[in-house]
Amino acid sequence: MNPVDYVLVGGGLQNGLIALALRAAQPRARIVMIERGAAPGGNHTWCFHAGDAPAGSTWLDPLIVARWPAYDVAFPSHHRTVEAEYACVSSARLAEHVRAALAAPGSELLSGAHAEEVGADRVVVRDGGGTREIRGAAVIDARGPDRAAIGACGWQKFVGQELVLDAPHGLARPVLMDATVPQRDGFRFFYVLPLAPDRVLVEDTYFSDGSHLDVDLLRSEIAAYAASRGWRGTMVREETGILPMPWEVAAPDVAPPLVAGYAGRWFHPVTGYSFPIAARLAAFVASRPAAALFGAELTELARAHAGQLAFARRLTRMMFRWFPPERRHHVLSRFYRLPEATIRRFYALELTRLDRVRILAGRPPRGLSVRAVLGMEAR
Ligand SMILES: Cc1cc2nc3c(=O)[nH]c(=O)nc-3n(C[C@H](O)[C@H](O)[C@H](O)COP(=O)(O)OP(=O)(O)OC[C@H]3O[C@@H](n4cnc5c(N)ncnc54)[C@H](O)[C@@H]3O)c2cc1C
Repeated sequence: MNPVDYVLVGGGLQNGLIALALRAAQPRARIVMIERGAAPGGNHTWCFHAGDAPAGSTWLDPLIVARWPAYDVAFPSHHRTVEAEYACVSSARLAEHVRAALAAPGSELLSGAHAEEVGADRVVVRDGGGTREIRGAAVIDARGPDRAAIGACGWQKFVGQELVLDAPHGLARPVLMDATVPQRDGFRFFYVLPLAPDRVLVEDTYFSDGSHLDVDLLRSEIAAYAASRGWRGTMVREETGILPMPWEVAAPDVAPPLVAGYAGRWFHPVTGYSFPIAARLAAFVASRPAAALFGAELTELARAHAGQLAFARRLTRMMFRWFPPERRHHVLSRFYRLPEATIRRFYALELTRLDRVRILAGRPPRGLSVRAVLGMEAR
């Protein structure tokens, strides 16, 4: 089958979305995906603000397993309902659609296959049958967060459990941040997604200085939180995450092969999230032939992303360096008093100048360490 149009290295979120966007825009494209796991997608629940989906991206719609017109946040000082549509994609659903997209003639999903060498137009793969080379007009390398070259950072870490309850949970919408819980190990909050009337995803999440995740402790915290809400039931799935939140991260590279997704620094440094950015890059890749992937337009897309990264990096640095761990929640509490449009553009990494002024202007959040600010700025 060599050579093909696209060789997708890594079958996670980014390349899964690229495969689906390509199949929709270029039905005859020959695509090979190389995934070291048994199936594409891994074990995730990915959420995003539905308004952040790129224009015309109907290929995203079948991936959505739940959506809500609004969500809540709760801090000791205030509660708020944010009227922004929120959507959820499961890795199981992504895997199902990626498999179907790659079942087309001339395409192939190589699972249980390890990419050993990744070049501009060739990839060396090792699987049960030995080692072979696959050539393609465009190679897209999205091997995930572990390969992201980043400098100084804090960490977003969490354990999430999907619970099937004995009785309805009674939640009308997701709770993106319940920060009314005791603060420790940085900014701490529960994230609750009501996936069905009797099904919730409950995550205990930390914006922490360290990457150590005490899974057993967080499991017991999730059990205690669920009990405090009167939720009893069975845990059916668990996911964990340890994601860098860097204040030192370079702009994406735009030379072949295209390093995409988290590995290519196409993510949000303040939230550790990447869905809207991955969807945008997927739509871009699918909008032109493989041979025309690199050029002025990709450079411009990367430049725009780099501009947003530069501002986001400042925010991450302020949050982690200017606020001691136990006072970090004040930053998010203040953020959630901003206009809804600014909040949405913040998550999409599409902040305007006015948004930036709104985020930085006014009285600083409570808990600012003047000593930390002076110490940092003197360096
Ligand atoms: C549990 C969890 C939940 C998250 N939830 C959200 C969310 O709600 N919203 C959001 O925007 N972001 C979320 N994120 C952050 C981010 O969007 C995800 O980490 C996302 O999966 C990153 O996409 P990616 O394609 O870059 O990497 P991944 O999805 O990690 O994919 C990389 C793939 O490459 C494969 N691979 C690696 N090396 C090789 C190799 N040598 N050969 C072959 N295959 C290889 C891996 O097996 C993996 O499947 C979450 C992260 C985690 C961990």
